[in-house]
Amino acid sequence: MTTHDPRYRPATLLVQGGVERSQFGETAEALYLTSGFVYDDAEQAEATFKNEVQHYQYSRFGNPTVSMLENRLALIEGAEACRATATGMAAVHSALLSHLKCGDRVVASRALFGSCHWIVSTLLPRYGVKTEFVDGADMDQWRAALATPANLVLLESPSNPMLDIVDLQAVSDLAHAAGAIVVVDNVFATPLLQKPFKLGADVVVYSCTKHIDGQGRVLGGAVLGRKKWVEDTLVPFIRNTGPSISPFNAWLLLKGIETLALRVDAGCRNASTVADFLAAQPEIARVWYPTRADHPQRDLAMAQMSAGGTLVTFEVKGGKQAAFKAMNAFRLIKVSNNLGDSKSLATHPATTTHMRIGAEERAKLGITDGVIRLSVGLEDVEDIKEDLAAGLAAIGR
Ligand SMILES: *Cc1c(COP(=O)(O)O)cnc(C)c1O
Repeated sequence: MTTHDPRYRPATLLVQGGVERSQFGETAEALYLTSGFVYDDAEQAEATFKNEVQHYQYSRFGNPTVSMLENRLALIEGAEACRATATGMAAVHSALLSHLKCGDRVVASRALFGSCHWIVSTLLPRYGVKTEFVDGADMDQWRAALATPANLVLLESPSNPMLDIVDLQAVSDLAHAAGAIVVVDNVFATPLLQKPFKLGADVVVYSCTKHIDGQGRVLGGAVLGRKKWVEDTLVPFIRNTGPSISPFNAWLLLKGIETLALRVDAGCRNASTVADFLAAQPEIARVWYPTRADHPQRDLAMAQMSAGGTLVTFEVKGGKQAAFKAMNAFRLIKVSNNLGDSKSLATHPATTTHMRIGAEERAKLGITDGVIRLSVGLEDVEDIKEDLAAGLAAIGR
């Protein structure tokens, strides 16, 4: 088997998948920090532009380090093709804008990452695309919205920050019957815990900034899908609009992804322990974690995910004031709007990531002023629990 063989198991593909060695036989993936490429002669340049020979042309179109990342991501995801982008939002934006045109219709789950919500609610309508939001957990709303023909469905599961679960197979079936492709933002599940293509998705997008880098260093994104869609629809858009990733960032992501399975596994174990710990504390009104018995969609989460993920969302009693007191008293856990890092990070969505969507939309999503999103890191779980306890104790003071 070559390192491009999808029969290798995920842990193997994460480390070796897609490697292309240069004539020097380097062990680690080479960093081709170059914007352009040279040809042997003018004939080779002509043949390259005619697509008669394969040769890198320009790093906006393709780069060997970036290709290694794309091939590795495609192998792990079980996708026919992948294109890496500069950020997760470049991935979402490219997937949507490359597929849609004026007059098209998009149905999206309401519980989207803030910028994805803005693209659907604000940007697409400017270009004459009709958009409609539904509550992702409510199949009746999906059924009603997809009774009318549509071109694209966008959803996120588990959602940010309330960890709602969308039934990927059921929504994909309805979407396909309505004529739509299904785009799944799989960031919270990571490529390891949930396989959207097996559940009917047509396109999967990632912010590689999160667990794939996982160490808070670089931005990156990826779009995965069928070869024909990627080559005919996505690639012309990326080539000509330029959301391309830097080879340096792609190289860091290639090295980060080697430890993805170890990090996600440890993060899930810590998160599950932390969720149970939080649920037992008197200062807590409610905890959301997909595989906990009190999650309203636990059965669905267990059916389509192999673990609950590295995020825990909880609501403290006492609203914004109590949430701020707790966050300000954390020492180990850092206040940040990022997630998927090896360091534990706490976010107050109502005043940061989800401030701009407005109070009315937040209320629909269940994001109250007491809600804190915790991205559980790789520290010793006893230290994380002690830090949380100290934060909660500060609420009463
Ligand atoms: C972070 C994130 C994005 C955007 O990714 P960037 O790399 O920050 O552009 C999109 N969707 C989800 C679910 C995210 O968490």
